[in-house]
Amino acid sequence: MPRATKIVATLGPASSDPGVLERLIVAGVDVVRLNFSHGTAADHIARANLVREVADRVGKPVALMADLQGPKIRVGRFADGKAMLEPGAPFVLDAARSEPGDVHGVGLDYKELPRDVRPGDTLLLNDGLIVLEVDAVRGEQVHTVVRVGGELSNNKGINKQGGGLTAPALTAKDMEDIRTAMAFEADYVAVSFPKSATDMEMARQLAYVAGEGTRHRPGMIAKIERSEAIPQLEAILAASDGIMVARGDLAVEVGNAAVPALQKKMIRMARQMDKVVITATQMMESMILAPVPTRAEVSDVANAVLDGTDAVMLSAETAAGRYPVETVEQMAAIAEAAERAEDVSPDNDVLRRHFGRIDQSIAMGALFTAHHLGCKAIIALTESGSTALWMSRHPTKVPIFGLTHKHNSERRMALYRNVRPILMPTHNERDVALKDAEDVLVQRGVLRPGDTYAITCGEPMGYPGGTNMLKVCRVG
Ligand code: PGA
Ligand code: MN
Repeated sequence: MPRATKIVATLGPASSDPGVLERLIVAGVDVVRLNFSHGTAADHIARANLVREVADRVGKPVALMADLQGPKIRVGRFADGKAMLEPGAPFVLDAARSEPGDVHGVGLDYKELPRDVRPGDTLLLNDGLIVLEVDAVRGEQVHTVVRVGGELSNNKGINKQGGGLTAPALTAKDMEDIRTAMAFEADYVAVSFPKSATDMEMARQLAYVAGEGTRHRPGMIAKIERSEAIPQLEAILAASDGIMVARGDLAVEVGNAAVPALQKKMIRMARQMDKVVITATQMMESMILAPVPTRAEVSDVANAVLDGTDAVMLSAETAAGRYPVETVEQMAAIAEAAERAEDVSPDNDVLRRHFGRIDQSIAMGALFTAHHLGCKAIIALTESGSTALWMSRHPTKVPIFGLTHKHNSERRMALYRNVRPILMPTHNERDVALKDAEDVLVQRGVLRPGDTYAITCGEPMGYPGGTNMLKVCRVG
């Protein structure tokens, strides 16, 4: 059984060498994340081209995800690059300050902060390592008392506990970056800090306008990392193709303890709404420096797999860590072991839910049939990949093969749990296409004489959303 759970790896200095990148892909990377918080447009385009080249050489479909920076709410710079904040001391965040900061206070990149906070609010800096309590707001100055001290350095992020910062999700830089991402036909665009469905609709609109020439349509991923996004989850999911459980910023806003339950809820909701979900941040964090993960990290990755996530994500581990390839290898091994141990039976969802679409009903029919007949594979001949997506939203031990003639659909399916995308030349003749599909899986050693499999396609062939046929076959 090949691994069902997918691996997203962030590219960075530790992984931009073609040799390392090739080893990462061979070790199991399915999606490469380009972090738009760092680097120029030219850097991203060069890296995207490199990823596509290496993936072609390895012969494996790899999706590219452009992750927008979003409104990074940050302090300004310090005269000495940093300052030591002592517990109990006053500290002033000043939107009007232009001179560099010191132990008494610092300027703000985010000028709206004085309007967004009131006395009694808790501000978390540097991913929650420093805690400030707001004492008073005077004009452009936010006067605070240091609750948890430590070293604060240039441009560290600010979060407000409980959320409520008004910064819009899409900055001018993000809008420019969307155009860059569309220039290399990013398979996915991840939006940072969306608060509502509107943020996602706007990002999608911008992407579609930028992609008018090529008609390329990326999958839109909402990073759930703001408290305000939680009550809006259903609407945000409806407006997106998937979500990321962005545990780094989310944990700072809602508190660490709330995150595991939210992760389970987000994964469940995403799958129920036929969307994809990525679990992210600090999954193998200790492997930035060490050749083996901690026991807690092993459990964390395994539990995300058991929760039903499509993919687990690596950030600094592959971008800047010492052991990028080993991290991917070990993450893959943990996911495989968790999948083997998983008790998989079809969920009642398939029976309870109402499927109004023919293609979706055929997808569910294939799943049901393959389960009961003990098929070796489910094959979806698909234009957009949506048949494979629907099938993959429900637990099954039967691997799903998404066969498409479209490069973009092939790469997009690389993120779907339990789906193996395969690029195939198109055939308008249905019986030829069905035979070709069987031949490919026989060649790959997935199917052997005597094996049964379920296959879906559309008749006539070649129309997105046109799946209307299910056939069960035995390899002769
Ligand atoms: P980031 O997003 O790494 O871009 O901040 C992920 C997270 O916040 O967990
Ligand atoms: Mn984040």
